[in-house]
Amino acid sequence: MRIFDFHTHTFPDKIAAAAVGKLQAASHTRPFSDGTVTGLQKSMAAAGIAASLVLPVATSARQVEHVNDASIRLNNQAGITGVYSFGCMHPDYENHAEELRRIAAAGIRGIKLHPIYQGVNFDDPRYLRILETAGRLGLIVLIHAGLDVGFPGVVHASPRMVLNAMKSVGPVTLVLAHMGGWRCWDEALDLLPGTGAYIDTSFSLGSMTAGGDGYYKTPEELALLTEEKFVEIIRAFGSDHVLFGTDSPWGDQAAEVRRFLSLPLTDTEKQRILAGNAEALLQE
Ligand SMILES: [Zn+2]
Repeated sequence: MRIFDFHTHTFPDKIAAAAVGKLQAASHTRPFSDGTVTGLQKSMAAAGIAASLVLPVATSARQVEHVNDASIRLNNQAGITGVYSFGCMHPDYENHAEELRRIAAAGIRGIKLHPIYQGVNFDDPRYLRILETAGRLGLIVLIHAGLDVGFPGVVHASPRMVLNAMKSVGPVTLVLAHMGGWRCWDEALDLLPGTGAYIDTSFSLGSMTAGGDGYYKTPEELALLTEEKFVEIIRAFGSDHVLFGTDSPWGDQAAEVRRFLSLPLTDTEKQRILAGNAEALLQE
């Protein structure tokens, strides 16, 4: 089966080690590659993954153009490397429409927003204007939804905020990472199926891998979704609205593929989630 990983992260070679180290310390989990594009390609080859999408995050407005320049360069190589990239945007960036037009014209198909790292609620007017413009330009918007392992207790994209935002803007293709809202799964199930939003499967099934620093003491602290609940969420959103993602380097691509293939889903559901939906979305 062809496999497209819709949720991965890489960093420029010079800063990859420092960036991965910093995130590892904050999340108390371990990485499964070195965070470079080459590291991701090796991991893809081992896992039988044909293509991956990199999701960059701007943690300040002044990083936006610089990060987008790197994303455009990476995305332009995708025909050879199999590594595609979204762009980024920050809620405090002034000329958001101009920058979004620039990256769309350069062939970028969507942007990543991270309301926790960016410190703004997802239904704030600063995000709504970005959603509005992205929708008009045909850019997909993928957001980190729910809680974040590196920021205990902080939520800036609860399922309720996502619903508020969707009701406040025109049509836009929205992808909610981590099965609709990391560790907000019951609320996501209540509020979001049938809204047209997509979800990705990253960092949500089974349990996290402890970073070895002694932070996590019990299996319960590491537990994520059971297979049963995971399949329930997929069927609630519909297998045509689910995208396979691993959160590499924070997930082990080969292990995630094996685990996904063993789920009690039909072959048609698996094909759609593993690549069909992703390729249809990116081609539009
Ligand atoms: Zn991620």
